[in-house]
Amino acid sequence: MRTLITGIGEVVSGDIEAPLLDADSVSIVDGRIESIGRGLDGTADVVVDARGATVMPGLIDSHAHPVVGDFTPRQRTLDFIESSLHGGVTTMISAGEPHLPGRPKDVIGLKAMAIAIARAYASFRPGGVKVRAGAPILEQGLVEADFAEMAAGGVRLIGEIGLGSVKKGADAAPMVAWGRAHGMVSTFHTGGPSLPGSSAIGADDVLDAAPDIAGHINGGTTSLSEADIDRLVEADSGIALELVHCGNGRTALFALRRAADAGALGRVILGNDAPSGTGVVPLGILRLMAHLASLSDVAPETVVGLATGNTARVHGMDTGVLAPGRSADIVIADAPVGSVAGTALQALANGDIPGISMVLVDGVPLVGRSRNTAPAARMAEVVKGPAVGGGGH
Ligand SMILES: [Zn+2]
Repeated sequence: MRTLITGIGEVVSGDIEAPLLDADSVSIVDGRIESIGRGLDGTADVVVDARGATVMPGLIDSHAHPVVGDFTPRQRTLDFIESSLHGGVTTMISAGEPHLPGRPKDVIGLKAMAIAIARAYASFRPGGVKVRAGAPILEQGLVEADFAEMAAGGVRLIGEIGLGSVKKGADAAPMVAWGRAHGMVSTFHTGGPSLPGSSAIGADDVLDAAPDIAGHINGGTTSLSEADIDRLVEADSGIALELVHCGNGRTALFALRRAADAGALGRVILGNDAPSGTGVVPLGILRLMAHLASLSDVAPETVVGLATGNTARVHGMDTGVLAPGRSADIVIADAPVGSVAGTALQALANGDIPGISMVLVDGVPLVGRSRNTAPAARMAEVVKGPAVGGGGH
C-alpha cells in the first residue's frame, strides 16, 4: 500500500533542530514514511494533492485525561477524542485517569485499573487517534514488584503524581525510579491543586523526585510561581517542561521565553489538559500553538516541534517527526479563509488557528475538511483512491 502526497507548499518536520524541509512531496509505504523530497512520483494506491498547503506531523497531546472509550465522565461528553482528531491530534497521552467514578485507590485496585485501561486503548483507537493511557496515580504502599507487574501488563506511564496520596518528592522518588526501570514515563503535577483533596506542588518536590515530565508548569489550572518555573528551567535535569492549554497563558509565555533563553526548547512539550474543569477543547493544542507562536519570538515551525517531535522523544514514540521510517501521522493545513496570513505557519505567527483540510494516521486519510477548524484557504484533496469524509460547519 503506497500513498503519495504531492503539491505541498511547506513541510514542517517536527524536529526543532531542522524544522523546515526542502520538499514538496511525501511518499508512504504501509503506514510509514518512505521518502520526503521534491517531485516524488511513481505508482501509488492513494494520491493526495495538498494544493499548496502545509504538511506537518500529527499533533501529540501530552496531557489528556481519558478514562474509557471515547467518553469523559468529567464533562459527560461523547466522542471528544474523535473531535480532537479534527483539531490535528493524532496521538493522545494520558496524564492519569482520576475521573473514573469510584477510582480505586488501594494497590490492587489501581494496578488493575491501569492495566485494564492501557490494554483497552492499545486495542481501540477512537476515531483513529492513537491513545496511550493506563497511567496510574501513585498511592502510598506501592513497591517495586507492583511496577514490574503493571509493566508486564502493558502500562507505560505514571499519571500525575500528587493527585493521590504520594505528594512529596521524597516519597515519589523511589517509585519514579522503579517505574523508569520498568519502562514507564512519569509526570509530576505542579502548581495549585486541580481536584479537591490534592495540594499545591512546587519545584522542590519535582526536583526531588526527578520525573520525566514536570506537568503543566503554567498551571493545571493554577500556575507555579515564576521563581519555581525558573528553577525547573535552569535545573540541569533534563526533565521535560510541559505547557498546557487549560492553564495560565501568561506564565506559559514566561516559561517558553525562559526555556528559549536557556537553550532548553528541546525540553518543552505541549498538552491540552482536557477533559478537565475547563472543558473539552478539541482545538486546545492548536490554540496553545497559536498563543505561543504569536506572542513570543519562537518561530511557528519550532512551536510545531514542541507539540510533535519533542513529545515523541520523551515518550519514545515513532510518530511526531516526518522522516523516513517514522509513522505517517500527518496533518495538512493552511491559513484559514479570511486570515491576513498566507500559510499555516503565518497563521500561527499571527495568532490565527490554521484550517485543517486532511489528517492521516499511519498513512490513511481519516479526516477531510475538519469540522472544528475554520475552512482552509487551500484544501488538500484525494485525487486517487477512496474519498475521505469531511466535516464542515
Ligand atoms: Zn494536573
